[in-house]
Amino acid sequence: MHVDFEKLRMSGAGKAIAVLTSGGDAQGMNAAVRAVTRMGIYVGAKVYLIYEGYQGLVDGGDHIKLANWQSVTNIIQLGGTIIGSARCKAFTTREGRLSAAFHLVQRGITNLCVCGGDGSLTGANIFRSEWSDLLSELVRQGRITDSLAQQYTHLNIVGLVGSIDNDFCGTDMTIGADSALHRIMEVIDAITTTAQSHQRTFVLEVMGRHCGYLAVVSALASGADWLFIPEAPPEDGWEDHMCARLGESRSKGSRLNIVIIAEGAIDKHGQPISSNYVKDLVVQRLGYDTRVTVLGHVQRGGTPSAFDRVLVSIMLLCIRVARLIVKRLRP
Ligand code: ATP
Repeated sequence: MHVDFEKLRMSGAGKAIAVLTSGGDAQGMNAAVRAVTRMGIYVGAKVYLIYEGYQGLVDGGDHIKLANWQSVTNIIQLGGTIIGSARCKAFTTREGRLSAAFHLVQRGITNLCVCGGDGSLTGANIFRSEWSDLLSELVRQGRITDSLAQQYTHLNIVGLVGSIDNDFCGTDMTIGADSALHRIMEVIDAITTTAQSHQRTFVLEVMGRHCGYLAVVSALASGADWLFIPEAPPEDGWEDHMCARLGESRSKGSRLNIVIIAEGAIDKHGQPISSNYVKDLVVQRLGYDTRVTVLGHVQRGGTPSAFDRVLVSIMLLCIRVARLIVKRLRP
């Protein structure tokens, strides 16, 4: 379908959009902030940056700042998020969301882009569904005028799934997952060289909460000997099978074993399988020199991959174009 970029350029005139990053940080969040800001300015809207996630929205004041094109210069390559992220208890309460609504409507912001994980987007959806009630309450409390409430009847939300876990249904890749995989692979490759020298077994624990995506892909890409993920708890007796497999690999000449374990790994009875339990098992049954490496926050750190940088930039263009097309198709 042909896109009229001149029309796109004018489509946000007179509107205001704000962007925040929330929950655990992920590489690519800065690219998201940049893309929202630049696309917002391109379409003629006012763009606000909200600092410290939902906490900034609840607190208002200096936490909500008008942005210009230069505000997001030179950040696409940075990990983390320059506008900060937080877990905010206040936003889970109606009182907190009332304050958030007040700070948005004060500035005429009726478009909110939230880059975060499952919790952040659940919060955004609740906020959107309560919006008109919240405005009515602000009118009753005399904090805003009735005409202001009439002017800003809808809150449009765009959720960008920023999470290294790749755990959001309906989304092929979440923002940050590809960069986290790169980081994991660097560590596994580094560990493989030292494991080989000393004929060691390494048990590597990767993040992902209840999702095994990072573990599965890193195991495939590294040729690991064994893998634990929450989605496929091993059958009872897995200890025997795993040790047999590791032993077989060594007897055929391999000088190392790599076991990848997702942080949310469980057995058939829902009991967590810990990396230390796996390590002790290998030591006791096979007598191999075995080490545990919990990758932790290294996976969230560092620069975003080219894929994550481009993913968010394309997403923003797609969302804007889709809105334009929907408008055009409406009778
Ligand atoms: P990650 O996947 O990295 O943990 P997340 O977005 O899932 O990111 P959470 O800590 O679950 O991280 O949520 C971030 C914030 O979103 C919370 O601190 C809270 O302010 C808001 N939030 C989460 N759940 C809700 C909810 N049910 N109602 C309102 N706000 C919520």
